[in-house]
Amino acid sequence: MTSDPAIRTTGLTKHYGHVEALIDLNLEVGPGEVFGFLGPNGAGKTTTIRTILDEIRPTAGTASILGMDTGKHSVEIRRHIGYVPGDLAMYPNLTGKDTLTYFANLRGGVDWEYVAELAERLDADLSKKVGDLSSGNRQKVGLIQAFMNRPEVLIMDEPSSGLDPLMQREFQAMMREVSAEGRTVFLSSHTLSEVQRVADRVGIIRSGRLIALETVADLRAKGMRRIEFQFAEPVDASVFESVPGVRDVDVLRRRVMLSYDGKIDVLLTTVAGRYDVIDITTHEADLEEIFLTYYRDEEEAV
Ligand code: ATP
Repeated sequence: MTSDPAIRTTGLTKHYGHVEALIDLNLEVGPGEVFGFLGPNGAGKTTTIRTILDEIRPTAGTASILGMDTGKHSVEIRRHIGYVPGDLAMYPNLTGKDTLTYFANLRGGVDWEYVAELAERLDADLSKKVGDLSSGNRQKVGLIQAFMNRPEVLIMDEPSSGLDPLMQREFQAMMREVSAEGRTVFLSSHTLSEVQRVADRVGIIRSGRLIALETVADLRAKGMRRIEFQFAEPVDASVFESVPGVRDVDVLRRRVMLSYDGKIDVLLTTVAGRYDVIDITTHEADLEEIFLTYYRDEEEAV
């Protein structure tokens, strides 16, 4: 085992002419981590991945995988990674099995039992020509080729597009297993709920810039919540409104509903110090709402 980060980028920057697709990305993903790389279309996710993999050269900065500089050691690096590109090229006349054989030969062999297990889990039909498969079923072949050599680092560009919800769940289980074995997953996505389910940490990219880097737990803790309190006695709205982060307070005698985006213990201490709390219900914001909050803050800052 190595103590190097699985992936590291330092000042990674890519311009296409006047388009600043990626600006000064500094990122470290540790071994065994599932890292979610989130951003809307055109944010720079594919550019980041392709630059990290040395498919395109950075305008500035460097990237390394398992401590190896990606510009200098791209061949060696390929032996340690699995990659699902956004648009995996396959020969339409080859069956799924032939396609996997082709990829296996490039890498000097594969454990076919494991391939069969992956195919079964994803319900992939490897006997059909890939050109005859739906995009979701073709994607399964792409996933199997990335997982089948049990790579130390898996890099995937929007891999679950086209998979139905059942298969997405299986795929998420597969990613968690990779992480449990100490291997690393770098998952680019705009499916926030998926990232929320599997990732330990999330980077949010917008217009080529990393605007947030958080653990999923912290991101949630920061998120807006809708909270309902039940008290023993009638209460005064001003007590709640005085707490920073509280919004939209509705008081119905002994019942209070409010929105809150601060630390929950701050609110609880203030409220419980004044009134006798009988019950509390909170509805957690999902990443979608948190994501929008980040974008709103960015917009306001510009
Ligand atoms: P998507 O989810 O749509 O794939 P993305 O986050 O992967 O989006 P990128 O494909 O990295 O985004 O694109 C980042 C920016 O760089 C966009 O503005 C895009 O138009 C631009 N871009 C990407 N590739 C090129 C290229 N070869 N030439 C010029 N501009 C490009």
